[in-house]
Amino acid sequence: MLDFLGNLKRTHYCGELRAKDEGRDAVVMGWVHRRRDLGNLLFLDVRDRTGLVQVVFNKETQAAAHAKAEQARSEFVIAVEGKVVKRQKANPELASGEIELVATKLHILNNAKTPPFAIEEEINAEEVTRLRYRYLDLRRPKPHRNLALRHRIVLEIRKAMDELGFIEVETPMLTRSTPEGARDFLVPSRVHHGQFYALPQSPQIFKQILMIAGLDKYFQIVKCFRDEDLRADRQLEFTQLDLEMSFPRQEDIFHVIETVMVRACRVAGITVSAPFPHMLYKDVIRKYGSDKPDLRFGMELHEVTSCFPEEAKQKLQIKGNVFAFAAPGTAGYSRKQRDDLNEKAKSLGGGAYFAWRTTEGKTSSALGDFFTLSTIDKLIGQENVEKLAEACGAKAGDLVVAVSTKEQIKGTEAAALIAGQLRLQLGEALNLIDRSQWRFLWITGFPLFEWKETAKTWVSAQHPFTGIVDEDLEKLESAPWEVRSKGYDLVLNGYELGSGSIRIHRQDIQERLFKALGLSEEQLRRRFGFFLDALTYGTPPHGGIALGVDRIAMLLAGEKSIREVVAFAKTTAAQDLMADSPSPVDEDQLEELHISITPNVLFFGCKCGGKWRVSFERYAEGAGTFPSPNCPQGKGYILLPFVAGKWQAEHANGETGEWVLVTAS
Ligand code: ASP
Repeated sequence: MLDFLGNLKRTHYCGELRAKDEGRDAVVMGWVHRRRDLGNLLFLDVRDRTGLVQVVFNKETQAAAHAKAEQARSEFVIAVEGKVVKRQKANPELASGEIELVATKLHILNNAKTPPFAIEEEINAEEVTRLRYRYLDLRRPKPHRNLALRHRIVLEIRKAMDELGFIEVETPMLTRSTPEGARDFLVPSRVHHGQFYALPQSPQIFKQILMIAGLDKYFQIVKCFRDEDLRADRQLEFTQLDLEMSFPRQEDIFHVIETVMVRACRVAGITVSAPFPHMLYKDVIRKYGSDKPDLRFGMELHEVTSCFPEEAKQKLQIKGNVFAFAAPGTAGYSRKQRDDLNEKAKSLGGGAYFAWRTTEGKTSSALGDFFTLSTIDKLIGQENVEKLAEACGAKAGDLVVAVSTKEQIKGTEAAALIAGQLRLQLGEALNLIDRSQWRFLWITGFPLFEWKETAKTWVSAQHPFTGIVDEDLEKLESAPWEVRSKGYDLVLNGYELGSGSIRIHRQDIQERLFKALGLSEEQLRRRFGFFLDALTYGTPPHGGIALGVDRIAMLLAGEKSIREVVAFAKTTAAQDLMADSPSPVDEDQLEELHISITPNVLFFGCKCGGKWRVSFERYAEGAGTFPSPNCPQGKGYILLPFVAGKWQAEHANGETGEWVLVTAS
């Protein structure tokens, strides 16, 4: 029999009871964390958001409460009335370990099934199980701490933004496409047949319009939606600190973000100081081979193209610049270890060469397998091998890793990007990363465009509203790869926290930019006409930025996956395993939205010489239906794939070829 809560009022949180509460009557409420039955004495550890308290049930003095406690099991929800007493022997592991609660009455408010994993600080359940039973996973102390930290960070950000004079304005979720380089999530309109809203990839156009509207300083903690492949640091929907201000210099925006980040870090107990350092994009690429460099360790790249004479370049098919770095203490790397690095370089489209200084200071060299020769000194000469080691500052015992590529893409340092990946891999492997450091970096001087190999066209490196460096405007059509943007990124410890820019605020330039991106007059009118019009009504110079709140919370919580700071996260297969979404919807709903789902169709041969045609809405993962229709000619049956939703199986006679419906859902 379960008890009702009735008028019972909690007096204390479990984890907050202390020695000073000794002698007090207390009522705690929570979950049974653990039960130990010692016969006359029964102990329940009771847990709530704040932690645990030990409750004692004494058979002799409180027989009824003790009897009831015998029924309690893990994760039952209970309320205990009792008295706080000092323990004979304190438990130093527990914040409330100096006291215990001697129960006078127990109320069992709800029972619970045995959970699929223990509700403990550390568990080794698979992530899919944790996400499927997210309510149990979140009941653990660590997720509580992470969500509470995230709350405090967001609260601090809001306070800071308010104090800096920004106004939070909500922008619509049902809107039109906002280009940020990802796929849109579309929402069909019931009222307007065949038309769709898009969920915002960001509030970009709206925040710019708020500047045209004279709001001056806008911010929002806002959900954005991008249909991209998920990763450890990326979800389909994520939260941004989005801001925009009028008449800003770049430094003004940096100042706002630095103020906010210093305060957010302080909330997490991390001291950082502002201003943050700046680097130009081309320099970070050449020095770290990444646009989000991890500055917590050195092993910087050096351009060593001049160590490779023309003839060697031709033989090795080197195009573009060669980049190298010295990995400390790895001169003794085995052939296999070097091959692994070369494999990695190859998988990224390059190749690696190695030179090393033995501990005696002798310099030697080798090529990765990618290049068939076994040593590079034959090709570039011992002198150049020395020069190479020198350029990287290699000390005795260091391995020099040089990387080149066979393709050169205008405006990029492809070899540096590959060397940057090897640098990161070795930084991890050699334990060079100082985890106590918090290294912020502003990156500026980005190119406006990026070459998109698959589409063979130039695309916006950031988004098409990014301002253009004034002197580069004239090259917009003639040499797009040389045009620099007024964009900037903020990076922390190898993660991109966000990006922004001073915007294009003139209609004529915005229109030219759209055209440079290959939009026809008709397309740009249809997609951005309203915005181009708005720009003509007195648009102030403006700029802004957006930072990823989930990533900030992840880093400040010391986590490696964003899913640890998002309450209801999706798997990397973009599914919510708890709510089982995405999921099919009712036929009526589809009808109302004028949507029909085209079925998948599969063909199979049949033993009778005929064919099977199976049409189905979708594959089902895990449990689904396995239809096994019988051949109408009596030649056995076939086992079809897992299917879900509506499906049907048709059979065609081998001679007549006529399709007959055999079975359907
Ligand atoms: N809208 C951009 C983004 O979401 C940020 C910005 O330019 O302010 O990445």
